[in-house]
Amino acid sequence: MEEKKRIALIAHDHKKQELVEWVLQHKAIITQHELFATGTTGRLVEEALGGYPVHKFQSGPLGGDQQIGALIVERKLDVLIFFWDPMQAQPHDPDVKALLRIAAVWNIVMACDRTTADFVLSSPLMTKSYSPLVPDFSAHLNRKV
Ligand code: PGA
Repeated sequence: MEEKKRIALIAHDHKKQELVEWVLQHKAIITQHELFATGTTGRLVEEALGGYPVHKFQSGPLGGDQQIGALIVERKLDVLIFFWDPMQAQPHDPDVKALLRIAAVWNIVMACDRTTADFVLSSPLMTKSYSPLVPDFSAHLNRKV
């Protein structure tokens, strides 16, 4: 991954306020990177950042999480900041689980709470290029079925 990171932001409804606060707290750093988001989260973040561009996908329940998952599979995303709500079931819980899984499959940076997100943004690696280990899935592709 390059010095300029490709960061996806997603927050469930009860976590959106917290994500917006977090984005404002880190505005100087976060605006050095390229931002992606699910629809509603993206609109709120863009407004909070005074129009700093955010690539907005569909709203989460309409498939936005899956679109971000597809970015990960295509190796077009470096960091996922996902403030999911552990206290409330979502209509798109299967999509949420799929996104968490695919982020782990492809070994991308993932923060699911504010503390971890703080640690990620304060990492010196945020402003350096970095080569994550790309998992070797050849055995999986060549398996006998
Ligand atoms: P939203 O989607 O940003 O469109 O609200 C987030 C989600 O619920 O996954």
